[in-house]
Amino acid sequence: MFARSDARWAVGSGRTKQQVNPRESRHRSISGILLLISFSNAVNLPSTASFRCIKPFFYVDDFTCAGSQAASAVIDQNRRKSVTPVAANNEQLPSLSGGLYAFFFDVDGTLAAIQSRPDEAFIPEPVRQTLQSLYTLSNGALALVSGRPIHELDMLAAPLRAPAAGVHGAERRGADGELHRVSLPASMGQELSAALHTAMAKWPGTQLETKGMAFALHYRRAVQYEDEVMQLAYSLVERFPTLALQPGKCVVEIKPQGVDKGAAIQTFMGEAPFAGRIPVFIGDDLTDEKGFLAVNALQGISVKVGEGSSQARYRLKGVNEVHAWLEQIKLQLEQDKTTSVRSQGYESLSGRI
Ligand SMILES: [Mg+2]
Repeated sequence: MFARSDARWAVGSGRTKQQVNPRESRHRSISGILLLISFSNAVNLPSTASFRCIKPFFYVDDFTCAGSQAASAVIDQNRRKSVTPVAANNEQLPSLSGGLYAFFFDVDGTLAAIQSRPDEAFIPEPVRQTLQSLYTLSNGALALVSGRPIHELDMLAAPLRAPAAGVHGAERRGADGELHRVSLPASMGQELSAALHTAMAKWPGTQLETKGMAFALHYRRAVQYEDEVMQLAYSLVERFPTLALQPGKCVVEIKPQGVDKGAAIQTFMGEAPFAGRIPVFIGDDLTDEKGFLAVNALQGISVKVGEGSSQARYRLKGVNEVHAWLEQIKLQLEQDKTTSVRSQGYESLSGRI
């Protein structure tokens, strides 16, 4: 549905996109995708960690929606209430009354506030209870879709153990509990690990997170090394063409090509209990953009958390607003369930009469 084409991304907010210093821009060709990068240390941009890490601008159009037409047809057949499309980034979220929905949630920056260290993140207890309720009310059509490994997602969402796509979809656990995992050749993984450890040891405050088939290079606490970290990541992807980069908020990840949140959501939507439902995806970061595109292609509800340009159709201000909306959805689904039970009772009674 979408033609593969050039993509570009630049660090900075949408409002200040035009302020990015063109002298800082550079072109790099990676696996057929042209990336135009403008680092946020341009002279007329604030060089604070919060600006550089929290307000990225992102534009991408290299997306292939394999299988989305079939899934759309199933949704159209089973939809009980249509969702009216609105202009991109509309602030008003649609009511989820009367529909059958499949929920996909990013975690960091969406369900859990971003912390200075990834291991400090948490989902508040009341929100975990709400997630558990949504999982039950949607008959299990709820999945976490994150850059974290699945075992971390399970710990963060406990006691909920929902379907999940970890490491941007490089590992995926379906509703049947079966785990699907992409792996790197052992020699490549060892070579990458050694190169990354050696290089990043020279940059205090940076953090290397190894995920088996992927590596996350964090620089939230050492933004002065952003250029060096990015250079390192690019050099390794150029050396290993089967890998791809995934930039995020003060992090860049090296992962297998073809792995992204959009593909993970599409796969879920072809399986029970997600198939035939209207997808809802909430995320906050660059890595969520392909998820938004996949959900848009399925006529679903895509919600961007925070500022910055996005392909999402709706927007929530922050994590607290996400929590409030989840509670609202839960109450709505409970009300729908009560209404449905009552109407079934009336039908049964009138049938006996
Ligand atoms: Mg996130």
